[in-house]
Amino acid sequence: MNPKGMPPSGESPLHAIDLIRKKRDGGALEPREIGFLVAGAAGGSIPVEQLSAWLMAAWLRGLSLDEIRALTLAMRDSGERFDPSRLGRTAVDKHSTGGVGDKTSFLVAPIAAACGIAVPMISGRALGHTGGTLDKLESIPGYRTALSLAEFEAILQGCGASIVSQTLSLVPADRVLYALRDRTGTVESPGLICASILSKKLAAGLDALVLDVKTGSGAFLRKREEAEYLAALMVATAEAAGTRTVALLTDMGQPLGHAAGNWIEIAECLELLRGGRPAHSEDIRQLSLVLAGWMIHLGGKAPSPEAGSRLAEAALTDGSALAAFMKMVDAHGADISVFDDTDAFHRPDVTNVLNAWDSGYIADMDTTTIGWAVQRSGAGREPAAESEVPRESLGWEPVDPHAGIIFHARRGDHVEQGRPLATLYATTPDKLAESTALLKQAIHISKEPPPPPPPLIQRVFTRENAEAYIAGADKVGRNRE
Ligand code: URA
Repeated sequence: MNPKGMPPSGESPLHAIDLIRKKRDGGALEPREIGFLVAGAAGGSIPVEQLSAWLMAAWLRGLSLDEIRALTLAMRDSGERFDPSRLGRTAVDKHSTGGVGDKTSFLVAPIAAACGIAVPMISGRALGHTGGTLDKLESIPGYRTALSLAEFEAILQGCGASIVSQTLSLVPADRVLYALRDRTGTVESPGLICASILSKKLAAGLDALVLDVKTGSGAFLRKREEAEYLAALMVATAEAAGTRTVALLTDMGQPLGHAAGNWIEIAECLELLRGGRPAHSEDIRQLSLVLAGWMIHLGGKAPSPEAGSRLAEAALTDGSALAAFMKMVDAHGADISVFDDTDAFHRPDVTNVLNAWDSGYIADMDTTTIGWAVQRSGAGREPAAESEVPRESLGWEPVDPHAGIIFHARRGDHVEQGRPLATLYATTPDKLAESTALLKQAIHISKEPPPPPPPLIQRVFTRENAEAYIAGADKVGRNRE
């Protein structure tokens, strides 16, 4: 099938309007129909309004397992594919389904590289209420994320890890559909998330993949059973495509670590890479060690994930992960002199401290609303105001590298009225006010201590239990029951 919809002889031509109507009315698309939409997204032959309408129909109607598999493979094949076999190391990556303050990539990539694994990581930008790995990396002046495959390979050869974006040649369909989903409220769909993540990971030619699937108030799919379905779906889809995959279901019931934003998250990771162990970053440290442990195990460098975690911890404490991180960002063109004094480099336009309005326990944090507070501070992007956005500019409006929130209290902490709960950094006074109001709305202070939080790691899916879970789940990837 070519993007103009001209079929091989004997097949009728395809038209985007017919495929939108079919999905809108609850039909399931054939692989060739999905291939037509994906080629049209990547090549520009289908206008953004039709792609957006199809995304909304898919969000509302859900995608069948066959549609999800076809979408994943068509997106993977929408551009060039990376072949890691020349690297001489096992290629293993990690990807998260999206979180608030989730900065594990900056820890697990250099840790795994320091332990002898190749980490070819194709990442994303801020999506919905969640932060984006690429936006955070680009807060380091000079860091280039859009590389050619040759540059990607050269950095991997020299450093063991490289974190890059989709481009016009690498998973171009995800570049377009990702940006449209961010603008059209069509992010929270198991099938669209699965295809978006796995298209990037499968295009990187990985030997193995570790997925961090979030559950809880800050996850795209908040309910436990929805997150379990997504985890099993991604494991089964990636395994069917030939990549050894595990998924960890992890708690996103409060921001991870103490910073959520762009530069401030990089600064938090630097402290950990330098061997620091601040109590407020312990959850992100623990999660990173578990994820890296699985990467090292699947990469054949440790007999078990637990043994992998021990190697990961050693790489954090002996400085080898820090050295790998420095080498990687330097190779990407970044000015690493800003790491000398991370506080001095942090230059937000406006700042506010949110004090506790009552004394009591932090009983609950609506982490999705907190994520929006972070994005609205300027850390996320506002789509361009023009009514007609040409497809070529479906790139990325700039984000404020210095906007974001530092949290001074966590779920379960006792706080005194008038004491600081969080410090907010924003681009303008209006953004600061909106961000502060959202944050206040998201934090619930109670006189009673809350029950203990759920464990950070809640369940592990492997090829052994994923297929059975999907077969038993009475779902076809819908957002609603
Ligand atoms: N990360 C991605 O790359 N895509 C999604 O849809 C969600 C998280």
